[in-house]
Amino acid sequence: MKSKLMLHNTLTRRKEEFQPVNPPHVGIYVCGPTVYGDPHLGHARPAVTFDLLFRYLRSLGYKVRYVRNITDVGHLENDADEGEDKITKKARLEKLEPMEIAHYYTERYHDAMRALGVLSPSIEPLASGHIIEQIAYVQRILDRGYAYVSNGSVYFDVERYNRDHDYGILSGRRLDDMLSGTRDLDGQSDKRSPADFALWKKAAPEHIMRWPSPWSDGFPGWHMECSAMSTKYLGDTFDIHGGGMDLMFPHHECELAQNTAAEGHGAAKYWVHNNMITINGQKMGKSLGNFITLEELFTGNHALLAQAYSPMTIRFFILQAHYRSTLDFSNEALQAAEKGLDRLMKAVETLGKLTPSERSTVEVEELRTRCEEAMNDDLNSPLVIAALFDWVRIINQIYEKQQTISEEDLRQLRSLVGTVVFDILGLRDEKATGSDNLVAPLVETLLAVRAEAKAAKDWATSDRIRDRLTEIGIRVKDRKDGCDWEIE
Ligand code: ZN
Repeated sequence: MKSKLMLHNTLTRRKEEFQPVNPPHVGIYVCGPTVYGDPHLGHARPAVTFDLLFRYLRSLGYKVRYVRNITDVGHLENDADEGEDKITKKARLEKLEPMEIAHYYTERYHDAMRALGVLSPSIEPLASGHIIEQIAYVQRILDRGYAYVSNGSVYFDVERYNRDHDYGILSGRRLDDMLSGTRDLDGQSDKRSPADFALWKKAAPEHIMRWPSPWSDGFPGWHMECSAMSTKYLGDTFDIHGGGMDLMFPHHECELAQNTAAEGHGAAKYWVHNNMITINGQKMGKSLGNFITLEELFTGNHALLAQAYSPMTIRFFILQAHYRSTLDFSNEALQAAEKGLDRLMKAVETLGKLTPSERSTVEVEELRTRCEEAMNDDLNSPLVIAALFDWVRIINQIYEKQQTISEEDLRQLRSLVGTVVFDILGLRDEKATGSDNLVAPLVETLLAVRAEAKAAKDWATSDRIRDRLTEIGIRVKDRKDGCDWEIE
Protein backbone atom coordinates (compact mmCIF):
# COMPACT_ATOMS: atom_id res chain seq x y z
CA MET A 1 0.00 0.00 0.00
CA LYS A 2 1.71 3.18 -1.09
CA SER A 3 -0.99 5.46 0.32
CA LYS A 4 -0.71 6.59 3.88
CA LEU A 5 -4.20 6.88 5.26
CA MET A 6 -4.42 9.10 8.33
CA LEU A 7 -7.47 8.57 10.52
CA HIS A 8 -8.59 10.60 13.51
CA ASN A 9 -8.72 8.20 16.45
CA THR A 10 -11.22 9.24 19.11
CA LEU A 11 -9.31 7.16 21.65
CA THR A 12 -6.04 9.12 21.31
CA ARG A 13 -7.69 12.34 20.08
CA ARG A 14 -5.28 12.68 17.17
CA LYS A 15 -4.78 11.69 13.58
CA GLU A 16 -2.79 8.49 13.26
CA GLU A 17 -1.46 6.58 10.31
CA PHE A 18 -3.76 3.65 9.70
CA GLN A 19 -1.87 0.38 10.09
CA PRO A 20 -4.04 -2.75 10.02
CA VAL A 21 -3.56 -5.46 12.66
CA ASN A 22 -3.42 -8.17 10.03
CA PRO A 23 -2.88 -6.74 6.52
CA PRO A 24 -4.22 -7.07 3.86
CA HIS A 25 -7.26 -7.82 6.03
CA VAL A 26 -9.13 -5.01 7.72
CA GLY A 27 -11.95 -5.47 10.22
CA ILE A 28 -14.51 -2.72 10.77
CA TYR A 29 -17.39 -2.78 13.22
CA VAL A 30 -20.06 -0.09 13.05
CA CYS A 31 -23.09 0.25 15.30
CA GLY A 32 -26.16 -0.12 13.13
CA PRO A 33 -29.75 0.91 13.78
CA THR A 34 -32.16 -0.06 16.53
CA VAL A 35 -35.01 -1.17 14.32
CA TYR A 36 -38.17 0.29 15.81
CA GLY A 37 -38.95 3.21 13.47
CA ASP A 38 -38.49 4.56 9.96
CA PRO A 39 -34.92 5.33 8.96
CA HIS A 40 -34.26 9.08 9.15
CA LEU A 41 -31.61 11.67 8.39
CA GLY A 42 -29.71 10.66 11.53
CA HIS A 43 -29.25 7.14 10.12
CA ALA A 44 -27.99 8.42 6.78
CA ARG A 45 -24.85 10.13 8.06
CA PRO A 46 -23.06 7.22 9.80
CA ALA A 47 -24.16 4.88 7.01
CA VAL A 48 -22.68 7.12 4.28
CA THR A 49 -19.56 7.96 6.36
CA PHE A 50 -18.60 4.35 6.97
CA ASP A 51 -19.62 3.36 3.46
CA LEU A 52 -17.04 5.91 2.26
CA LEU A 53 -14.41 4.37 4.56
CA PHE A 54 -15.36 0.83 3.46
CA ARG A 55 -15.18 1.80 -0.23
CA TYR A 56 -11.90 3.66 0.19
CA LEU A 57 -10.14 0.86 2.07
CA ARG A 58 -11.27 -1.56 -0.65
CA SER A 59 -9.96 0.75 -3.35
CA LEU A 60 -6.57 0.76 -1.56
CA GLY A 61 -6.54 -3.01 -1.99
CA TYR A 62 -7.47 -4.14 1.52
CA LYS A 63 -9.72 -7.12 2.06
CA VAL A 64 -12.31 -5.56 4.32
CA ARG A 65 -14.69 -7.40 6.61
CA TYR A 66 -17.33 -4.86 7.47
CA VAL A 67 -19.68 -5.83 10.31
CA ARG A 68 -22.70 -3.62 10.98
CA ASN A 69 -25.17 -4.90 13.53
CA ILE A 70 -28.93 -4.66 13.86
CA THR A 71 -30.19 -3.96 17.40
CA ASP A 72 -33.44 -5.86 17.77
CA VAL A 73 -33.43 -6.37 21.53
CA GLY A 74 -32.09 -4.78 24.70
CA HIS A 75 -32.09 -1.07 23.74
CA LEU A 76 -34.21 0.53 26.46
CA GLU A 77 -36.01 3.83 26.07
CA ASN A 78 -33.61 6.01 28.02
CA ASP A 79 -30.48 4.56 26.32
CA ALA A 80 -29.38 3.17 29.70
CA ASP A 81 -30.96 0.61 31.97
CA GLU A 82 -34.40 2.00 32.59
CA GLY A 83 -37.64 2.14 30.66
CA GLU A 84 -39.25 -0.24 28.23
CA ASP A 85 -37.42 -1.99 25.39
CA LYS A 86 -37.87 0.27 22.32
CA ILE A 87 -38.96 -2.58 20.06
CA THR A 88 -41.25 -4.20 22.63
CA LYS A 89 -42.94 -0.86 23.22
CA LYS A 90 -43.60 -0.34 19.51
CA ALA A 91 -44.89 -3.94 19.27
CA ARG A 92 -47.26 -3.36 22.19
CA LEU A 93 -48.60 -0.13 20.68
CA GLU A 94 -49.11 -1.72 17.26
CA LYS A 95 -50.31 -5.10 18.62
CA LEU A 96 -47.61 -6.97 16.70
CA GLU A 97 -44.87 -9.42 17.60
CA PRO A 98 -41.57 -7.64 18.44
CA MET A 99 -39.90 -9.61 15.65
CA GLU A 100 -42.51 -8.30 13.18
CA ILE A 101 -41.51 -4.77 14.17
CA ALA A 102 -37.80 -5.57 13.90
CA HIS A 103 -38.20 -7.27 10.53
CA TYR A 104 -40.39 -4.53 9.07
CA TYR A 105 -38.04 -1.71 10.03
CA THR A 106 -34.94 -3.68 9.05
CA GLU A 107 -36.40 -3.97 5.54
CA ARG A 108 -37.19 -0.25 5.51
CA TYR A 109 -33.63 0.50 6.60
CA HIS A 110 -32.19 -1.73 3.86
CA ASP A 111 -34.37 -0.08 1.19
CA ALA A 112 -33.24 3.40 2.29
CA MET A 113 -29.57 2.35 2.40
CA ARG A 114 -29.76 0.85 -1.09
CA ALA A 115 -31.30 4.09 -2.37
CA LEU A 116 -28.43 6.05 -0.76
CA GLY A 117 -25.88 3.83 -2.52
CA VAL A 118 -24.67 2.38 0.80
CA LEU A 119 -23.08 -1.00 0.17
CA SER A 120 -24.31 -3.97 2.16
CA PRO A 121 -21.90 -4.85 4.99
CA SER A 122 -20.05 -8.18 4.92
CA ILE A 123 -21.95 -9.42 7.99
CA GLU A 124 -25.07 -7.94 9.57
CA PRO A 125 -25.55 -9.78 12.88
CA LEU A 126 -28.71 -9.47 14.98
CA ALA A 127 -28.50 -9.00 18.73
CA SER A 128 -31.31 -11.55 19.19
CA GLY A 129 -29.32 -14.10 17.18
CA HIS A 130 -26.30 -13.88 19.51
CA ILE A 131 -27.77 -14.41 22.97
CA ILE A 132 -25.50 -17.39 23.68
CA GLU A 133 -22.37 -15.37 22.84
CA GLN A 134 -23.59 -12.51 25.00
CA ILE A 135 -24.27 -14.78 27.99
CA ALA A 136 -20.75 -16.24 27.63
CA TYR A 137 -19.29 -12.72 27.49
CA VAL A 138 -21.16 -11.64 30.63
CA GLN A 139 -19.82 -14.76 32.37
CA ARG A 140 -16.22 -13.86 31.40
CA ILE A 141 -16.61 -10.41 32.95
CA LEU A 142 -18.12 -11.96 36.10
CA ASP A 143 -15.23 -14.44 36.28
CA ARG A 144 -12.75 -11.57 36.13
CA GLY A 145 -14.45 -9.85 39.03
CA TYR A 146 -15.69 -6.77 37.19
CA ALA A 147 -19.40 -7.49 37.52
CA TYR A 148 -21.88 -8.66 40.13
CA VAL A 149 -25.24 -10.42 40.18
CA SER A 150 -28.06 -8.58 41.86
CA ASN A 151 -31.60 -9.92 42.05
CA GLY A 152 -31.27 -11.90 38.78
CA SER A 153 -29.62 -9.05 36.84
CA VAL A 154 -25.89 -8.65 36.19
CA TYR A 155 -24.25 -5.22 36.47
CA PHE A 156 -20.84 -3.97 35.46
CA ASP A 157 -18.94 -2.73 38.51
CA VAL A 158 -17.66 0.59 37.18
CA GLU A 159 -15.81 1.67 40.33
CA ARG A 160 -14.02 -1.67 40.63
CA TYR A 161 -13.07 -1.48 36.95
CA ASN A 162 -11.89 2.11 37.26
CA ARG A 163 -9.38 1.07 39.94
CA ASP A 164 -7.52 -1.06 37.35
CA HIS A 165 -8.41 0.73 34.14
CA ASP A 166 -9.67 4.08 32.92
CA TYR A 167 -13.44 4.36 32.66
CA GLY A 168 -14.11 7.46 30.53
CA ILE A 169 -10.97 7.24 28.39
CA LEU A 170 -12.94 7.24 25.13
CA SER A 171 -15.45 9.99 25.83
CA GLY A 172 -13.03 12.10 27.86
CA ARG A 173 -15.08 11.86 31.05
CA ARG A 174 -13.95 11.22 34.59
CA LEU A 175 -15.80 8.86 36.87
CA ASP A 176 -15.72 11.31 39.80
CA ASP A 177 -17.41 13.99 37.69
CA MET A 178 -19.96 11.50 36.43
CA LEU A 179 -20.80 10.37 39.94
CA SER A 180 -21.10 13.88 41.34
CA GLY A 181 -23.58 14.65 38.57
CA THR A 182 -25.93 11.80 39.43
CA ARG A 183 -28.42 11.43 42.21
CA ASP A 184 -27.97 8.71 44.78
CA LEU A 185 -29.78 5.46 44.12
CA ASP A 186 -33.17 5.54 45.79
CA GLY A 187 -33.01 2.05 47.27
CA GLN A 188 -35.26 0.67 44.50
CA SER A 189 -32.35 -0.12 42.22
CA ASP A 190 -30.41 -3.37 42.07
CA LYS A 191 -27.23 -1.44 41.27
CA ARG A 192 -24.52 -0.72 43.81
CA SER A 193 -23.60 2.58 42.16
CA PRO A 194 -25.46 4.85 39.72
CA ALA A 195 -22.51 4.58 37.31
CA ASP A 196 -22.92 0.79 36.96
CA PHE A 197 -24.66 -0.49 33.87
CA ALA A 198 -26.56 -3.66 33.02
CA LEU A 199 -24.89 -6.58 31.29
CA TRP A 200 -27.99 -8.76 31.75
CA LYS A 201 -31.44 -7.68 32.86
CA LYS A 202 -33.96 -9.91 34.58
CA ALA A 203 -37.20 -9.65 32.60
CA ALA A 204 -40.33 -8.35 34.29
CA PRO A 205 -43.27 -10.81 34.01
CA GLU A 206 -44.87 -8.85 31.13
CA HIS A 207 -41.62 -8.59 29.14
CA ILE A 208 -41.98 -10.62 25.92
CA MET A 209 -38.40 -10.92 24.61
CA ARG A 210 -36.65 -13.12 27.16
CA TRP A 211 -34.11 -15.93 27.22
CA PRO A 212 -32.94 -18.31 29.93
CA SER A 213 -29.54 -17.59 31.48
CA PRO A 214 -27.61 -18.70 34.59
CA TRP A 215 -28.94 -15.62 36.41
CA SER A 216 -32.57 -15.25 35.31
CA ASP A 217 -34.95 -15.34 32.37
CA GLY A 218 -34.08 -12.01 30.83
CA PHE A 219 -32.28 -10.17 28.08
CA PRO A 220 -28.83 -8.66 27.47
CA GLY A 221 -27.97 -5.02 28.21
CA TRP A 222 -27.73 -2.87 25.09
CA HIS A 223 -23.94 -2.44 25.11
CA MET A 224 -23.28 -6.18 25.43
CA GLU A 225 -24.25 -7.13 21.88
CA CYS A 226 -21.54 -4.99 20.30
CA SER A 227 -18.75 -6.37 22.53
CA ALA A 228 -19.86 -9.95 21.87
CA MET A 229 -20.57 -9.68 18.14
CA SER A 230 -17.59 -7.51 17.13
CA THR A 231 -15.10 -9.87 18.75
CA LYS A 232 -16.92 -12.98 17.49
CA TYR A 233 -16.53 -11.89 13.87
CA LEU A 234 -13.37 -9.75 13.98
CA GLY A 235 -11.31 -11.25 16.81
CA ASP A 236 -10.39 -9.80 20.21
CA THR A 237 -8.21 -7.16 18.53
CA PHE A 238 -9.52 -5.56 15.36
CA ASP A 239 -8.95 -2.41 13.34
CA ILE A 240 -11.76 0.13 13.36
CA HIS A 241 -14.87 0.70 15.44
CA GLY A 242 -17.24 3.31 14.10
CA GLY A 243 -20.49 5.03 14.90
CA GLY A 244 -22.17 8.37 15.47
CA MET A 245 -20.77 10.74 18.10
CA ASP A 246 -24.01 10.38 20.05
CA LEU A 247 -23.02 6.76 20.76
CA MET A 248 -19.67 7.66 22.33
CA PHE A 249 -21.24 7.77 25.77
CA PRO A 250 -22.56 5.63 27.28
CA HIS A 251 -22.67 3.01 24.51
CA HIS A 252 -19.07 2.93 23.25
CA GLU A 253 -17.51 3.77 26.61
CA CYS A 254 -19.34 0.79 28.14
CA GLU A 255 -18.44 -1.43 25.20
CA LEU A 256 -14.76 -0.58 25.59
CA ALA A 257 -14.96 -1.24 29.34
CA GLN A 258 -16.62 -4.62 28.72
CA ASN A 259 -13.90 -5.63 26.23
CA THR A 260 -11.14 -4.50 28.57
CA ALA A 261 -12.72 -6.29 31.53
CA ALA A 262 -13.05 -9.54 29.56
CA GLU A 263 -9.76 -9.50 27.61
CA GLY A 264 -7.46 -7.19 29.55
CA HIS A 265 -7.38 -4.77 26.60
CA GLY A 266 -9.75 -2.89 24.31
CA ALA A 267 -10.77 -4.59 21.07
CA ALA A 268 -10.67 -1.78 18.48
CA LYS A 269 -7.41 0.01 17.63
CA TYR A 270 -9.11 3.02 16.03
CA TRP A 271 -12.39 4.53 17.15
CA VAL A 272 -13.93 6.72 14.47
CA HIS A 273 -16.99 8.90 15.13
CA ASN A 274 -19.05 10.92 12.72
CA ASN A 275 -20.58 14.22 13.83
CA MET A 276 -24.32 14.83 13.86
CA ILE A 277 -26.81 16.44 11.49
CA THR A 278 -28.64 19.49 12.77
CA ILE A 279 -31.77 20.97 11.18
CA ASN A 280 -31.73 24.74 10.77
CA GLY A 281 -29.18 24.80 13.58
CA GLN A 282 -31.21 22.62 15.95
CA LYS A 283 -30.73 19.07 17.07
CA MET A 284 -33.18 16.74 15.35
CA GLY A 285 -35.84 15.37 17.69
CA LYS A 286 -39.41 14.15 17.60
CA SER A 287 -40.45 16.68 20.24
CA LEU A 288 -39.04 19.60 18.20
CA GLY A 289 -41.21 18.77 15.16
CA ASN A 290 -38.12 18.68 12.93
CA PHE A 291 -37.78 14.91 12.72
CA ILE A 292 -37.51 13.98 9.03
CA THR A 293 -37.49 10.40 7.76
CA LEU A 294 -35.59 9.47 4.63
CA GLU A 295 -38.82 8.59 2.88
CA GLU A 296 -40.17 12.08 3.61
CA LEU A 297 -36.98 13.54 2.14
CA PHE A 298 -37.23 11.37 -0.99
CA THR A 299 -40.91 12.34 -1.51
CA GLY A 300 -40.84 15.92 -0.17
CA ASN A 301 -43.78 15.04 2.06
CA HIS A 302 -42.94 17.08 5.20
CA ALA A 303 -43.85 20.59 6.30
CA LEU A 304 -40.17 21.64 6.53
CA LEU A 305 -39.36 20.51 2.99
CA ALA A 306 -39.65 22.86 0.02
CA GLN A 307 -39.36 19.94 -2.43
CA ALA A 308 -38.39 16.27 -2.74
CA TYR A 309 -34.67 15.48 -2.61
CA SER A 310 -33.31 12.43 -4.38
CA PRO A 311 -31.24 9.88 -2.46
CA MET A 312 -28.08 10.90 -4.36
CA THR A 313 -28.69 14.55 -3.43
CA ILE A 314 -28.76 13.48 0.24
CA ARG A 315 -25.59 11.41 -0.21
CA PHE A 316 -23.80 14.24 -2.00
CA PHE A 317 -24.95 16.70 0.69
CA ILE A 318 -23.44 14.46 3.39
CA LEU A 319 -20.17 14.00 1.46
CA GLN A 320 -19.81 17.75 0.97
CA ALA A 321 -19.00 18.08 4.69
CA HIS A 322 -16.13 16.42 6.50
CA TYR A 323 -17.54 13.59 8.62
CA ARG A 324 -16.20 15.16 11.85
CA SER A 325 -17.91 18.51 11.20
CA THR A 326 -21.49 19.22 12.05
CA LEU A 327 -23.75 19.29 9.03
CA ASP A 328 -26.70 21.62 9.03
CA PHE A 329 -29.69 20.63 7.01
CA SER A 330 -31.70 23.32 5.22
CA ASN A 331 -33.62 23.51 1.97
CA GLU A 332 -31.04 25.97 0.61
CA ALA A 333 -28.14 23.63 1.40
CA LEU A 334 -29.90 20.66 -0.18
CA GLN A 335 -30.87 22.65 -3.26
CA ALA A 336 -27.24 23.70 -3.65
CA ALA A 337 -26.20 20.04 -3.32
CA GLU A 338 -28.72 19.08 -5.98
CA LYS A 339 -27.32 21.67 -8.40
CA GLY A 340 -23.73 20.68 -7.64
CA LEU A 341 -24.41 17.01 -8.20
CA ASP A 342 -26.15 17.79 -11.47
CA ARG A 343 -23.13 19.77 -12.69
CA LEU A 344 -20.81 16.95 -11.72
CA MET A 345 -22.90 14.31 -13.49
CA LYS A 346 -23.18 16.45 -16.63
CA ALA A 347 -19.39 16.77 -16.67
CA VAL A 348 -19.04 12.98 -16.36
CA GLU A 349 -21.33 12.69 -19.39
CA THR A 350 -19.31 15.31 -21.27
CA LEU A 351 -16.13 13.42 -20.41
CA GLY A 352 -17.57 10.47 -22.35
CA LYS A 353 -17.96 12.66 -25.43
CA LEU A 354 -14.47 14.22 -25.47
CA THR A 355 -12.22 13.55 -28.44
CA PRO A 356 -8.44 13.27 -27.95
CA SER A 357 -5.83 15.54 -29.49
CA GLU A 358 -2.12 15.08 -30.26
CA ARG A 359 -0.99 16.48 -26.94
CA SER A 360 -2.39 17.53 -23.56
CA THR A 361 -2.56 21.00 -22.10
CA VAL A 362 -3.88 19.49 -18.84
CA GLU A 363 -2.21 17.47 -16.08
CA VAL A 364 -4.35 14.47 -15.09
CA GLU A 365 -1.93 13.44 -12.34
CA GLU A 366 -2.82 16.65 -10.52
CA LEU A 367 -6.39 15.42 -9.99
CA ARG A 368 -5.20 11.98 -8.88
CA THR A 369 -2.79 13.47 -6.35
CA ARG A 370 -5.35 15.88 -4.95
CA CYS A 371 -8.00 13.15 -4.52
CA GLU A 372 -5.54 10.76 -2.89
CA GLU A 373 -4.16 13.38 -0.53
CA ALA A 374 -7.65 14.48 0.47
CA MET A 375 -8.91 10.95 1.10
CA ASN A 376 -5.76 10.06 3.03
CA ASP A 377 -6.23 13.11 5.22
CA ASP A 378 -8.93 11.56 7.41
CA LEU A 379 -11.37 11.00 4.51
CA ASN A 380 -11.63 14.64 3.52
CA SER A 381 -14.47 14.19 1.02
CA PRO A 382 -15.22 17.94 0.68
CA LEU A 383 -11.68 18.48 -0.66
CA VAL A 384 -12.15 15.58 -3.10
CA ILE A 385 -15.34 17.22 -4.34
CA ALA A 386 -13.58 20.59 -4.65
CA ALA A 387 -10.88 18.95 -6.80
CA LEU A 388 -13.57 17.33 -8.96
CA PHE A 389 -15.27 20.69 -9.49
CA ASP A 390 -12.02 22.23 -10.70
CA TRP A 391 -11.93 19.40 -13.19
CA VAL A 392 -15.58 19.93 -14.19
CA ARG A 393 -14.36 23.31 -15.47
CA ILE A 394 -11.37 21.73 -17.21
CA ILE A 395 -13.51 19.02 -18.85
CA ASN A 396 -15.85 21.70 -20.19
CA GLN A 397 -12.84 23.68 -21.49
CA ILE A 398 -11.58 20.61 -23.34
CA TYR A 399 -15.06 20.13 -24.78
CA GLU A 400 -15.10 23.75 -25.90
CA LYS A 401 -11.64 23.22 -27.47
CA GLN A 402 -9.98 25.76 -25.16
CA GLN A 403 -7.77 22.95 -23.85
CA THR A 404 -6.62 19.66 -25.34
CA ILE A 405 -6.06 16.18 -23.99
CA SER A 406 -4.07 13.27 -25.43
CA GLU A 407 -5.59 9.85 -25.98
CA GLU A 408 -3.65 8.29 -23.07
CA ASP A 409 -4.50 11.16 -20.70
CA LEU A 410 -8.17 10.95 -21.69
CA ARG A 411 -8.20 7.24 -20.91
CA GLN A 412 -6.57 7.96 -17.54
CA LEU A 413 -8.97 10.78 -16.75
CA ARG A 414 -12.04 8.69 -17.54
CA SER A 415 -10.80 5.86 -15.38
CA LEU A 416 -9.85 8.18 -12.51
CA VAL A 417 -13.12 10.14 -12.51
CA GLY A 418 -15.07 6.86 -12.68
CA THR A 419 -13.15 5.46 -9.71
CA VAL A 420 -13.50 8.58 -7.58
CA VAL A 421 -17.11 9.51 -8.41
CA PHE A 422 -18.71 6.07 -8.61
CA ASP A 423 -16.50 3.62 -6.68
CA ILE A 424 -15.21 5.77 -3.81
CA LEU A 425 -17.80 8.53 -3.34
CA GLY A 426 -20.47 5.97 -4.29
CA LEU A 427 -22.49 8.41 -6.39
CA ARG A 428 -24.59 7.34 -9.33
CA ASP A 429 -26.34 9.17 -12.14
CA GLU A 430 -29.96 8.94 -11.05
CA LYS A 431 -31.16 10.30 -14.37
CA ALA A 432 -29.64 7.28 -16.10
CA THR A 433 -31.31 4.51 -14.11
CA GLY A 434 -34.33 2.31 -14.78
CA SER A 435 -36.44 3.08 -17.86
CA ASP A 436 -34.52 6.36 -18.16
CA ASN A 437 -31.77 4.20 -19.63
CA LEU A 438 -33.77 4.26 -22.83
CA VAL A 439 -34.06 8.03 -23.06
CA ALA A 440 -30.48 8.75 -24.14
CA PRO A 441 -30.29 6.19 -26.98
CA LEU A 442 -33.76 7.20 -28.23
CA VAL A 443 -32.86 10.90 -28.28
CA GLU A 444 -29.51 10.14 -29.94
CA THR A 445 -31.35 8.12 -32.63
CA LEU A 446 -33.76 10.96 -33.36
CA LEU A 447 -30.92 13.48 -33.46
CA ALA A 448 -29.03 11.27 -35.92
CA VAL A 449 -32.10 11.28 -38.20
CA ARG A 450 -32.27 15.05 -37.76
CA ALA A 451 -28.59 15.42 -38.70
CA GLU A 452 -29.24 13.45 -41.91
CA ALA A 453 -32.26 15.66 -42.68
CA LYS A 454 -30.12 18.79 -42.15
CA ALA A 455 -27.38 17.41 -44.36
CA ALA A 456 -30.02 16.92 -47.07
CA LYS A 457 -31.26 20.47 -46.42
CA ASP A 458 -34.62 19.06 -45.32
CA TRP A 459 -35.18 21.89 -42.81
CA ALA A 460 -38.86 20.99 -42.24
CA THR A 461 -38.02 17.52 -40.87
CA SER A 462 -35.06 18.86 -38.89
CA ASP A 463 -37.20 21.55 -37.22
CA ARG A 464 -40.08 19.15 -36.60
CA ILE A 465 -37.81 16.79 -34.66
CA ARG A 466 -36.29 19.61 -32.63
CA ASP A 467 -39.73 21.13 -31.85
CA ARG A 468 -41.25 17.78 -30.89
CA LEU A 469 -38.33 17.12 -28.52
CA THR A 470 -38.76 20.59 -26.98
CA GLU A 471 -42.45 19.85 -26.38
CA ILE A 472 -41.60 16.76 -24.31
CA GLY A 473 -38.98 18.64 -22.31
CA ILE A 474 -35.76 17.91 -24.19
CA ARG A 475 -33.84 21.00 -25.18
CA VAL A 476 -31.61 20.74 -28.28
CA LYS A 477 -28.75 23.20 -28.72
CA ASP A 478 -26.95 23.29 -32.06
CA ARG A 479 -23.19 23.56 -32.20
CA LYS A 480 -20.73 24.00 -35.02
CA ASP A 481 -20.07 20.28 -35.29
CA GLY A 482 -23.27 18.65 -34.09
CA CYS A 483 -25.61 19.35 -31.19
CA ASP A 484 -26.09 18.97 -27.43
CA TRP A 485 -29.28 18.06 -25.67
CA GLU A 486 -30.53 18.04 -22.11
CA ILE A 487 -33.65 17.16 -20.19
CA GLU A 488 -35.21 20.33 -18.77
ZN1 ZN B 1 -23.04 -0.70 19.27
